[in-house]
Amino acid sequence: MDVITKVNEMQTRVLSIKDRKKSIGFVPTMGALHEGHVSLIRSARKENNKLIVSIYLNPTQFDNEDDFNNYPRQMDKDIEIVERENADLVFAPGTKELYPEGFCTYVTQDKLTDSLCGRLRPGHFNGVTTIVTKLFNIIKPDRAYFGQKDYQQTVVIKRLVADLNMDIDVRVLPIVRDEDGLAISSRNKRLNPEERQNALCIYSSLSKAKSVFASNIKDSKEIIEEMTSIIKKTKNIKIDYVSIVDPNTLENVSSINGKAVATVAVWIGNTRLIDNIILE
Ligand code: AMP
Repeated sequence: MDVITKVNEMQTRVLSIKDRKKSIGFVPTMGALHEGHVSLIRSARKENNKLIVSIYLNPTQFDNEDDFNNYPRQMDKDIEIVERENADLVFAPGTKELYPEGFCTYVTQDKLTDSLCGRLRPGHFNGVTTIVTKLFNIIKPDRAYFGQKDYQQTVVIKRLVADLNMDIDVRVLPIVRDEDGLAISSRNKRLNPEERQNALCIYSSLSKAKSVFASNIKDSKEIIEEMTSIIKKTKNIKIDYVSIVDPNTLENVSSINGKAVATVAVWIGNTRLIDNIILE
């Protein structure tokens, strides 16, 4: 497995794969790899001839300098993990390579980025849509793999691919959780034991949403109240949002008709965590 740091070298490798008519599966990551990433990598490995994983901590999608500075970094370990999963290539460029001097073109998306994390993290999704477009242009994947954990991101990227006529199959895979239900996240590494314990209220609130919905309550306000009351019982936690949204438009729904997504963003100390569950 080769680790490639230069855009032009990656493009040459991609051309040669395409010449041989091999399909490319692509998993974009920001590193600090965990079981959630591994599940994407394994699916991509199964469904494509060639597997490319990118490891790049993209500064333009961080709206908070501390979050960027404190984001876990473990490149050597990440490369070991990706190699163990039989990837063909790792793309790990530096920031000067992706954003050279003079860089001034960004991809922006309206509507879908106005709510939830987009509302609370200004500029975040512009960073995401820009870097994903760049990576898609460089790697030209047949299939790209994303986790449901970042639900809004999956909707934004599917729309990006459709709106810009990119010929890429966007695959969304289920959330991988620890045994106690906490969604695995690179940011979990920053939680101390007490915070880790407090974070369990996120999954409890989503499970509550599921059971209340299963008991035939469709009124979002009622479900959100139940969810919020669980989170509020926990110490040292700040709610960014607890919402029930349409799975495609991401707009709040007042009554669940068919399918909806219950989604939560909270601060546990200095760490912001998100999670969601599909209600249908
Ligand atoms: P990140 O490195 O955080 O940008 O994540 C890279 C990809 O892994 C994104 O598509 C995430 O949604 C996905 N991902 C992160 N955590 C999980 C998880 N617990 N289960 C499934 N996918 C995940």
